Formats: sequence, C-alpha cells, structure tokens
Amino acid sequence: MTHRIKISIKGAVQGVGFRPFIYKLAKSLGLKGYVLNTPQGVIIEAEGEHNILAEFIERIKSEKPPISLIQNISIEKYSLNNFKEFEIRKSDLRGSPNAIVLPDIATCKDCIEEICDPSNRRFLYPFTNCTNCGPRYSIIESLPYDRARTTMKKFNMCTECNTEYENPDDRRFHAQPNACPICGPHVELWTSNGRILEFHNDAIIAAAKAIKEGKIIAIKGLGGFHFVVDAMNVDSINRLRKKKNREEKPFALMYPNINLIKNDCDVTETEEKLLLSAQAPIVLLKRKDNCGIPGEVTPLNPNLGIMLPYTPLHHIIMMYLKNPIVATSGNIAEEPICIDEKDALKRLKDVTDLFLIHNRPIYRNVDDSIARIISNERVILRRARGYAPMPVIINTENKKTILSVGGHLKNTIAVSKGSEVFISQHIGDLETIESYNSFCNTIDKFQEIYEIEPDIVVSDSHPDYISSKYAKEKFKKTELVQHHVSHILSVIAENEIDGPVLGISWDGAGFGDDKTIWGGEFIRFNECGYKRIAHLKKFRLPGGESSFKEIYKSAFGLLYEIYGDDELKYVPFNISEKETGILLQMLKKNINSPECSSAGRLFDAVASILGIRRKVKFEGQAAMELEFLTYGFASEENYNFEIVKDKNGLYVIDWIPMIKQILEDKMNYILLNMISIKFHNTLVKIITEVAKLVKEKNVALSGGCFQNKYLLENSIKELLKNGFRVFWNKEVPANDGGISLGQIAYLSYFKNIK
Ligand code: ZN
Ligand code: ZN
Ligand code: FE
Repeated sequence: MTHRIKISIKGAVQGVGFRPFIYKLAKSLGLKGYVLNTPQGVIIEAEGEHNILAEFIERIKSEKPPISLIQNISIEKYSLNNFKEFEIRKSDLRGSPNAIVLPDIATCKDCIEEICDPSNRRFLYPFTNCTNCGPRYSIIESLPYDRARTTMKKFNMCTECNTEYENPDDRRFHAQPNACPICGPHVELWTSNGRILEFHNDAIIAAAKAIKEGKIIAIKGLGGFHFVVDAMNVDSINRLRKKKNREEKPFALMYPNINLIKNDCDVTETEEKLLLSAQAPIVLLKRKDNCGIPGEVTPLNPNLGIMLPYTPLHHIIMMYLKNPIVATSGNIAEEPICIDEKDALKRLKDVTDLFLIHNRPIYRNVDDSIARIISNERVILRRARGYAPMPVIINTENKKTILSVGGHLKNTIAVSKGSEVFISQHIGDLETIESYNSFCNTIDKFQEIYEIEPDIVVSDSHPDYISSKYAKEKFKKTELVQHHVSHILSVIAENEIDGPVLGISWDGAGFGDDKTIWGGEFIRFNECGYKRIAHLKKFRLPGGESSFKEIYKSAFGLLYEIYGDDELKYVPFNISEKETGILLQMLKKNINSPECSSAGRLFDAVASILGIRRKVKFEGQAAMELEFLTYGFASEENYNFEIVKDKNGLYVIDWIPMIKQILEDKMNYILLNMISIKFHNTLVKIITEVAKLVKEKNVALSGGCFQNKYLLENSIKELLKNGFRVFWNKEVPANDGGISLGQIAYLSYFKNIK
C-alpha cells in the first residue's frame, strides 16, 4: 500500500548539499514527491510503500552529507497526492532563519571541475565556491548568515554572479561568498617587505616556481597563513624549522592528490574517506618503507600528517607543483596563526621569502584540523577548520546560557544554549601574550555571533590557569570543575551515555581535588555527581613543572619512590653530580617536589629510564615515541602490578613491580620495542582490572594519553572482550581541546541552575 508522508528536518541542513542528496536517494528508491528548503529547515514529501519509506528515513539519518547535522526529524502522515515524480522545489523563504553557523567547507567536485575547465568563466579562479562549498565560519561576522555580514561585503557581485545568486535552481543560489574573476577577490605576490611583484594567476605561477626553487612562501589561505616549502627539499625544511623556532614538532603536508599519498603512506579505506571528506582535515597516516618524504618533515616519527587541497587556491598551486609541500601554520612557535597582511608583514617577514596574499579578509583564525583513525573510526586531535563551530548536542533540560573557558594547553572555549554546545576552534597553548589575546578575542567574537550574555561562566579548578583567572576577573558568577572530571564528561556528553559510568582519565597533569597533580584517575559518575575511585600510585616530581619538559626529573622522582637513596645506581642517564645532589636534596626535604598520580608523567619516566630521551621539546613527545616503538611488533605479555586499597578506601595501582621488571628487561638487552609493548599491555591490563573491580557497565576513556593508538585500541578491545560498553572521544579531542565541552556538561548535568 502506498503512503504519503511529510518529513521536516531541522539542523545544519542548508548550504551543505542536503537537497541533492535527498533528491538522489528518493530517486534511487523510486519515491515520488519533492524536497524544499525553508528558513527553518528542509521539508520533504514522499509517496511510496511503507518499507521503502522506512528505508528512506533510515538512510537520510545514516548517509546524510558529512557537514550536515540533524537535530530533529518529524514525520506527519497525509492522504495521497499521487505525485508524478520526485523534484527539488523552489525555496520557501518565509519565516525567521535557524541560527547554526556552518564551518568552512572544502571545495566541491563541481567547483574543481570549473576551475580546471578553460572554457569556464571561473577557469583558474582561486575564490570559486558554491552553496555546497567554500568559506563560512572564517568570514562570518554576525548572523543571520548573509553576504552583508561577511567579509565578502566589500565585493559587489557582477550581473552574472548576481543572477546565479538569485536563482533558486542554481548551484550558487544564496551562496554568500559567490565571486568570479570580474567581481571577486584576487591574489598578489609580495616580497617579504610587502612590495608587489605579481597579480592574479601570474602571482600563483611565480609562487609555485619559487617553492620549486627552495624558497619559503607565506600563503594566505582560508583561516590564516601557512608557511609552505617543497616537501622534498631538506635545506628548505631545515631553514623553515630554524626560522619558525620549531625544532622537532612534525610539519603537516599537502599532497596534490590521493594517489600520490598512497605512494608514500598506507591508506585504509576509512582514512581515504576522511582525507577526501568535506572537512578535509590533516590525517595522521603511517609512512611506507619506501616513502619519499625526508625524515626532517617529522623527525623520529613514523607517521605523516597529510591533507588534500581544500580551497581553489590550493588546488591551483598543487596543479602547478604536482608534488607535496610542507604546509604548516603561519606563526612563530606556539603563537596563534596569522590572519591578515599587516600582521603577517610584522610577524612573518623574517621567516618568509615571499608572501602570496589575497584581499578577502579573514574574520577568524581557523587552523587546520587534525584527525586520526583509531579502531576504524575518526577521532579528532585538533578541532578547527571543517568542524568548528558545529554544535555537539547534549542531553539536558537546562536552559541557561553557559560560557566555558577551557583549560590551559590546546585551549578551546564553548558556549551553550540549552542542549546545543558550540565549541570554538582550537586556540592553542595559553603561554604567550598573542595566544591570550586570541583567547579573549575568540570569547568576544563567540558572544557576538551567538548574541549571548552568559548566565554563568565555568573554568578549570586550577587556580593558576590563565583561563581560570580570566573567568574570575571578568565575570561575577563562575563555577570550577576538576580537570579530569571535565575530560570524562566530554565523552559522556558527546556519546549521550545514560546511567552510571566508570571514567578513566589519563593525561599529563591537572589540578586534583586534593590539591596534588592528578593524571591517572578512575572516576565513577552517576546522576548525583562523581567520586574518585582509584588512581595510579603517586610519585614526586623534583623541580615541579620543570619536569614536564625535563623528563629525566620524572624518572628521578619515580626511582626515588622505589629505591630511595639507592636509586642512583638505576638512573640511566648522565646528570652532573651537582644536579644529582640537588634533585636528591629536593626529594629528601620535599622542596618543590609535588606529588603526582599522572599517567603522562609515568610515560615520561619510563621513556627516560629506557634512555629514549632526557628532555622533550613538546608535551607528549616521549609518550609518542614509546607508542612508535610498538609499531610492527606484537606480544601478549605484560608486566606485574598490584592494586591495593589505601586508608581512604581508594584503590591505588602500584606500578613498582612493573618498573622493576622494566629495569631487568633493560639490563638483559631486551628490544626496546618489546619493552614498550609490554609496558602498554600493562596499562591496558590495569584499565581492565580496575573496570572489573568497579563493575560499571559503561566505561569512558579520555585525556591526552588516549590519543595513543596502541593504548586506546587495545583498551577498547580488552574492555569489550570483558563485556563492558566502551566510549571515547570522537567529536572533540581527548586532549585538553575537549575540556570546554566537559565543563559545560558538568554544569548542565549536575548543577541546578535552571
Ligand atoms: Zn562548490
Ligand atoms: Zn562575478
Ligand atoms: Fe588534560
């Protein structure tokens, strides 16, 4: 029997290729009816058999375009209309618009075809875009999303562009950044002092030539500047490293096409899909043995971070170059990415040989996102271009407006209106005045675009975080949330987990409720709140926070915990007698030697004990190197550990037996790869054993340590094997980029602020 239904879909369903998707799906199922855009969402009417309609609805949910977000689907039944075909109807423009700000979207297939077609009026035009692709968040000043409220307002559309813009049947109908060579922005090539050398396509050709010759070019892209050099040229790479003050952190690469990536890296089907997605993030991929990229791009790292071109400008540059380039954020060290020419001339001129700039202003800095496939699913390590500021929908009745200011490293901020949480793009480590300004700026612009005055502001409980201080000074009513609690709540929120959860929150450091440094925590959550249940055995860090970079100090503190004064015979690295004396005195007299239960510091200590490195250049470097040692090796073995109950009834995981066995293995010249695998396996075992003791069905894993593929994949596997339901971060980073979501979730779930 044939039925007629009307489907109303709300969410981010416009300007994301939703109508063509519905049209094709309906046609393929033989349904009759229409699809239509309204300011409140998409309306579909369809006639067909019960089961076909059911499949249609199911597939709308599961196969929807990647950028789109469905907040609500409602279905009504009507009497038959006997539609003759399925069509896309003209938009109905009545009513007030829905307020989702879309992220920037990578150039679509149709637009790429146009810029490659010599007969098209947009042939080689670097600012080509349409309703399905192009800049959004980076150029929007305020809502509703209209050209007059974007940085495109200074360009008046020519007649042809305007005709496209006004025509509901055109691919560029209401494409706000619509432009062409006649009326739109253009590029220029400048010297490092800002003298103009070339315009238009000649500028791109000259820039490509300069890259081939080994020059460093600062290219203004979508959400900011990149420094670009030839990825095969070791001298250029080294020169860029030195000038950018970035000694060992990996550089990202941009490849002309997917096939060239496959020559250099192993690419699974899921990874390929992610590379080609509308978000087009940097994807971490494993190098092949015969990979042509020099090691200087990612020192001591078997992975490469690779993205495909995501704007027409990048596509055109890559057409001329035909080879991969290094494309790293246009900044010095950890400062925010540079977004305008004036600022670039000041900040970047000493690094770059040339500037390739354009005159479409960037309103917000948006870095490239970084993602990785773990357990065959996408996890986001840095959430920015393509993902921000799409909301995460959480399960709450709370109607208040909340602002959360995030953590300290890899900072993001978020605002929520009821159940929608809008998370900012990656802001960065709040270590410099530039980053701090960018943090303040992002908060101001977020309040402006969502037109909110927060009812309540929430920050990390760490009293010295600059973000916490900002919240306290600037707002009257603030709430504090413990760092590791936020991590777990970010998982609970994005996965909408119901019922009690055991959260396993492992990272480098966070301010604990007992004022010590936490980071190896097991926390139980239920509808009333949270309770810490277990933690890794504590050890002290002589020198306090200096041990975060000088990781031999972590090892020193760890060995002192086991051997006391006798530790020195196990210390595997050369430290001057003087420093040894100082560190010992610090530990003995308990001067600047805070206690920690951190898993991240345990990774550091083990790496240091194994002689992998004494110091790290960036947070997590030693842990990454331990992870890399597991690649290509396999073992089921693990080391011993004990779980004991302390006087407060907390389980304490004693790693002393493990460290003793690691030292023994090292003495017996066991391969470091095997030691690393056994160390990782021990951590997995610790996780499953504690989960078995606590006996909550739901287990959530979060914190920077779970960016480690070996640790996360094997923890998931073992927990599933033991009958647990396992959840981890996919939409927000497991690192501190996810803290802002967790902070909002805490207030929404546990605080009666209605
Ligand atoms: Zn397009
Ligand atoms: Zn035009
Ligand atoms: Fe953290």
